[in-house]
Amino acid sequence: MNVEETVKAFKAYLGKIKMYREAMSTLSFDGETVAPIGSTKSRAKRAGFFSLEVFNLTTSDEMKAYLDALAPHVDTFDDVLKGEYRLAKKSYEDKTKIPADIVREMGELQEEAAAIWGQARAENDFDKFAPYLKRLIELKKKVIEYRGETSKKPYDLLLDDYEDGMNMEVYDAFFNQLKEAIVPLLKKIKDSNKKIDTRFVHEKVGLEAQKAISKQIATQIGYDLDRGYIAESTHPFCNGSNKYDVRITTRYDEADFFSSFYSVMHECGHAIYEQNISDDIAHQIVGSGASMGIHESQSRFYENILGRSLTFWEVMYAELQTLLPETFDDVTAHQFYEAVNEVKASFIRVEADELTYNLHIIIRYEIERLLFNEDIDVYDLPAIWNQKYEDYLGITPSTNAEGVLQDIHWSFGAFGYFPTYALGSAYAAQIAAHMKKDLDVEALIKAQDFAAIKNWLGEKIHQYGKTYTPNELMKKSFGETFNADYYVNYLTDKYSNLYELTS
Ligand code: ZN
Repeated sequence: MNVEETVKAFKAYLGKIKMYREAMSTLSFDGETVAPIGSTKSRAKRAGFFSLEVFNLTTSDEMKAYLDALAPHVDTFDDVLKGEYRLAKKSYEDKTKIPADIVREMGELQEEAAAIWGQARAENDFDKFAPYLKRLIELKKKVIEYRGETSKKPYDLLLDDYEDGMNMEVYDAFFNQLKEAIVPLLKKIKDSNKKIDTRFVHEKVGLEAQKAISKQIATQIGYDLDRGYIAESTHPFCNGSNKYDVRITTRYDEADFFSSFYSVMHECGHAIYEQNISDDIAHQIVGSGASMGIHESQSRFYENILGRSLTFWEVMYAELQTLLPETFDDVTAHQFYEAVNEVKASFIRVEADELTYNLHIIIRYEIERLLFNEDIDVYDLPAIWNQKYEDYLGITPSTNAEGVLQDIHWSFGAFGYFPTYALGSAYAAQIAAHMKKDLDVEALIKAQDFAAIKNWLGEKIHQYGKTYTPNELMKKSFGETFNADYYVNYLTDKYSNLYELTS
């Protein structure tokens, strides 16, 4: 085969992998929403079959032959093909270095540990989960050894797995900058006399009305329901097999209207990203969001930067009054804005406000760093966790269930994942600052012209999918890589105004 023919065969081969992934994605959505409980075992068997197929295709001799044959020609490829090659090569190398029995052991341990974690959290019993956590960390360290990238520290390798190009050096600088800004800001907020009225946020809103509002707001901000669907699940998520089928979920609670409202805004951010990837790459492996951090930047943009802004509430207020007559009669637009931005130190990460949320992430990052770089004993975790909550948030969890056991991530071996949440918020602020240079964002929100905002994001971020690494994408679209200054300025300005702080 000449190069042209090899490229054609390589593309077709990757296209096959993508098709399997698309099928798996839709099956997984089915499993998490409407699949009957009795089908659990048979679905697990089916999922196992597809995972093995994809694993075999990704690590086959045929794949190696393509990668070797094309290696000398990568420089001549267009950007999309370069991206495809980069992803296929990374996945081949990562997966072939680790012996099959270790992969299987990890899979089984994750499955078991996640189930035990659920019980341990329900029973508030950290010691029950601790031996599993210990084994997960040991096994993860073994996997890192097999990968043989000795020039990188173990935790650096994990951070890079979840966000290409990230490491402790960048995160340390980012988190130190955040801490220096947030900790004193929080203290000022605590000492301020500003009182925020939040009594109305738990006002009852009927489920049918909430569903109607979800659809309306989703459509308004640019989620295309012809290529989307809003379902219900315990934990909201977004699932896209390709840009033509991107579904989201939320959960409804009569006494917590804002919870579903903001879940929908958040998941719509993810969905709008996937829906606006270029048609040309829809069925290619580059045809989904660039990275965890960039994906989260889109959800946080819609949820927080747009959805928790004063201008947005000035517009939404009238809509909401029409949609929910009498419910919020005595509440003003400004009260809405204040209530959805109230800052309050709390134990649970997923319920935290925009400002303290980062401290929850920093605590997890610092603990993961200790686990992988300093070999600390997992049995010391509850004490370390509680001390850090006291140091950063001034509160101590009274149980491990609302402390060290609250998140599911570690139970499935996801170490190095948490920092991408904070990174996403910071990317969102950086992207929004650039948006303001090109668009009169305030005026567009006032005119409810959310399409202009979506189109701009589509042009700068969405269309490319995974063609570029996060750093390449930021550089290409904004001329600079990650910069935390934008986020620190955004938080400082927003909360100084909201709490009427004088500097
Ligand atoms: Zn998200």
